[in-house]
Amino acid sequence: MTDYKFLKVESHDDGRIVRILLDRPSARNAQNRGLLVELDEAFLAAEADDNVRVVILGGTGPLFSSGHDMGSKEAVAERTKGGPGEHPTYKVNGGTRVGAENRMLQEWHYFFQNTLRWRNLRKITIAQMNGTVFAAGLMLMWACDLIVASEDTKFADVVGTRLGMCGIEYFAHPWEFGPRKTKELMLTGDSLSVEEAHSLGMVSKVFPTDELGDRTLEFARRIADLPTVTSLLIKESVNQTVDNMGFYNGLQACFTLHQLNHSHWAEIHENKYAVGLPEDGITNWKDAEPVVPALKDRPRA
Ligand code: ZN
Repeated sequence: MTDYKFLKVESHDDGRIVRILLDRPSARNAQNRGLLVELDEAFLAAEADDNVRVVILGGTGPLFSSGHDMGSKEAVAERTKGGPGEHPTYKVNGGTRVGAENRMLQEWHYFFQNTLRWRNLRKITIAQMNGTVFAAGLMLMWACDLIVASEDTKFADVVGTRLGMCGIEYFAHPWEFGPRKTKELMLTGDSLSVEEAHSLGMVSKVFPTDELGDRTLEFARRIADLPTVTSLLIKESVNQTVDNMGFYNGLQACFTLHQLNHSHWAEIHENKYAVGLPEDGITNWKDAEPVVPALKDRPRA
């Protein structure tokens, strides 16, 4: 199998099941450009391979993903123009344009359209979640058809409270949490427990943490036993239904609002920084208090 720098890819059951793991545990599996580009390659390779029936997406280490990589050394090097570590994708797909056009095109290609492509993969996908699944971690998880999680998993989108943003680029929240819960979670930045996520129907199975890998594989085997045409058409029947209910158009509209939100911040900041800053009343994400669970009898932590 291909060697990846930011992923670990396993093949199981003579290639019927592929497990793709984000593999930057020291960076809390934050998503830098290199990782996202490799993830696209790994998903498309699994899609092209007729032996593969189910693709599992997870992460190595104690948590799935803390979201987009905002500032690791690697991520900064990738986006430093002309630097030795510049990622080639910053020179294409709008990367040479300026202003909001650059941001809109780059985010469309590397945050939005890739996520949608994985959501429409011609294979059944299972998200194997553990620890924290924050912000852009949610996007990767939601792109999958089924979600299983270990009992220590929590879900949150902190970009409202920490970055002054209206959500992440792929705004599936109302479809996954429900409209009102989405408002609560986005406005507070609080987290949803795995038990609540299970009652919402978002998470299918909750496994003991030390058995997560094996139990997920067991679940994947059951799905892999269905004829591939049946499983694909079940997936597609549901996806086409929600697309007709407005999922696709909703995503597009909210991507545009997300760009408006970035443009607002860029316009009022001298350094063109495209998210909210402490001077705007936003707690810097590096100094922010830990995320707390949304508890029904507590107005605040
Ligand atoms: Zn963005």
